[in-house]
Amino acid sequence: MDIEVTRSEGALCHRCGRPLLALLDVPHSFRREDGVEVRGRRRVGLCANCDRHDTAGQGLIAFFTVNTGIADNQVGEVADLVAEWIARLPPPPDLSDMVEPDEENWRQNGA
Ligand SMILES: [Zn+2]
Repeated sequence: MDIEVTRSEGALCHRCGRPLLALLDVPHSFRREDGVEVRGRRRVGLCANCDRHDTAGQGLIAFFTVNTGIADNQVGEVADLVAEWIARLPPPPDLSDMVEPDEENWRQNGA
């Protein structure tokens, strides 16, 4: 999986407003009802406050609390922690919900 981890650079947590430890740029995809796979990327913030009770996020939080960046010899370690955390993230906002009303409208109007 192609995940980019960037320093949060002052970005704030959308949940509690505190500075984020890191921002992760994560690819995701989902399959629409018509079978078309929609691919995209989303940015996920790692917050020491909000994510501290998430067992999957604790390893990452510990890492970024101690380390301000990722050294070359730490890439493997971070990749494992990120993979663990990503696997536990809630699914992205369901875009199909946003698309559906339009499609419904489209069908009803018979356009
Ligand atoms: Zn937070």
